[in-house]
Amino acid sequence: MANKLAAGNWKMNGTTAQLAEIDALHKAHPDPSVDILICPPATLLSRLSDATKDSAIATGAQDCHAHNSGAHTGDISAEMVKDAGGSYVILGHSERRTDHGETDAIVQAKTQAALDAGLIAVVCIGETEAERDAGTTLDVLGTQLAGSLPDGIDGNTVVVAYEPVWAIGTGRVPTLEQIAEAHDFMRKTLADRFGSAADDIALLYGGSVKPGNASEIFATSNVDGALVGGASLKAADFTGIITALE
Ligand code: PEP
Repeated sequence: MANKLAAGNWKMNGTTAQLAEIDALHKAHPDPSVDILICPPATLLSRLSDATKDSAIATGAQDCHAHNSGAHTGDISAEMVKDAGGSYVILGHSERRTDHGETDAIVQAKTQAALDAGLIAVVCIGETEAERDAGTTLDVLGTQLAGSLPDGIDGNTVVVAYEPVWAIGTGRVPTLEQIAEAHDFMRKTLADRFGSAADDIALLYGGSVKPGNASEIFATSNVDGALVGGASLKAADFTGIITALE
């Protein structure tokens, strides 16, 4: 198993001034015992990567295209992410699945492109509230896992983030039993498909993680870290989450 991972997804937030948060984060964690990742908007990736190159903070993108280059206006490729200094890419976030119609097949193609470019892919899955209410959460997670991950992966280059759609940005969090059920299910499903490589896949929980709830979430079965949206924007908040993971 790789180190625990605290991953921040800045989404469509931040201009140059936001980079100041990274100085504060670096000062707070000069030698962290967990992996720290920040995925800024694409416009900041290169500068953020330069700013963090002498620190333990890794950087990544929030999406990439499945192709290396071509007529895809507005998109960036996995190679471009790598060239900009990124080492990770978030794929299949529910906001991409909803806003841009990304299917499991598209997410799988992007994941393969990311792995081919030498990036670590953070693949997101999660049920909607209607699916949870209908009792189909594990079916949904199983389908998304099966469809979004390519065959033959190296577990050290793939991270899976369980992000219930209804918990993202809402302040609502599943019970610890619900998180454990989802994470245990993911671990077993991945082991059934990938064998011992599944042991190396970090499983993140995401959805309204804050300094105040991080410790109990990190103590939950098969939770190897968090994917954090809103609380990753301020170094003071993200530091509280990182400290809970250490
Ligand atoms: C996310 O966007 O991946 C996320 C988990 O957001 P938040 O932490 O704001 O709920």
